[in-house]
Amino acid sequence: MRLVFLGPPGAGKGTQARELAREWGVVHLATGDMLREALAAGTGLGLEAKRYMDRGALVPDEVIIDLMRERLARPDAARGFIVDGFPRTIAQAEALASLLKDSGQALDRVIYFEISEPELLRRLTGRRICRRCQTVYHLISAPPRRPDVCDKCGGELYQREDDSEATVQHRLEVYAQQTAPLLAYYSERGLLVPVAGEGSIEAVRRAIRAVVGA
Ligand code: ADP
Ligand code: ADP
Ligand code: ZN
Repeated sequence: MRLVFLGPPGAGKGTQARELAREWGVVHLATGDMLREALAAGTGLGLEAKRYMDRGALVPDEVIIDLMRERLARPDAARGFIVDGFPRTIAQAEALASLLKDSGQALDRVIYFEISEPELLRRLTGRRICRRCQTVYHLISAPPRRPDVCDKCGGELYQREDDSEATVQHRLEVYAQQTAPLLAYYSERGLLVPVAGEGSIEAVRRAIRAVVGA
């Protein structure tokens, strides 16, 4: 199983990818999580990426492609994967296709999360993340049992700097300009499968299972 979860920031890709990857026994590869982990570890990659992430811009293609090349070469990725937050540009999509081709693989499907802008804004501004294990919560739709404390690991929840209202607007514009062209790209290749992203977390999960046949 080799899937891409595609959709605007806040569409619910990470929430679904995390659970479904566990259920299916494949790896969840989220470039945003990798960059935030690199930053938390204080690596050069993390510090470079932060300059772009804080203002809601995309990290340069070469940096992200190198990161994914290394990650996909690790043995666990051979069992299958869900990539989430990548590709975000046509150049990244072409690089992904050629990386997979080099090892005799190809994508099975690209799941596109369809969702309205008002719902995206509600999701992004209410999102909270665990500092320790990166589990995602929402103040209203997916609250932790105890305020500001992760149910899974007891870690502290925080709001991403780029989920502030000013940066969110810019990220949605970046999505429209640089990432939305991937819809036609994958549709032309017969890979794009739209899923209604607006239902409950469980309803969206069922819809994805149904289109993947799992
Ligand atoms: P969201 O889930 O809200 O869409 P992510 O966690 O995927 O956000 O990404 C956060 C930020 O990390 C992006 O705004 C961008 O700066 C950077 N980033 C993540 N993935 C990529 C990518 N594939 N290409 C370029 N930048 C990326
Ligand atoms: P993405 O990875 O696409 O940026 P997330 O999975 O981080 O999106 O979800 C964005 C926010 O919306 C999070 O706070 C999450 O808890 C919440 N969320 C995710 N899916 C749903 C859903 N189906 N209904 C309501 N809230 C959701
Ligand atoms: Zn946690």
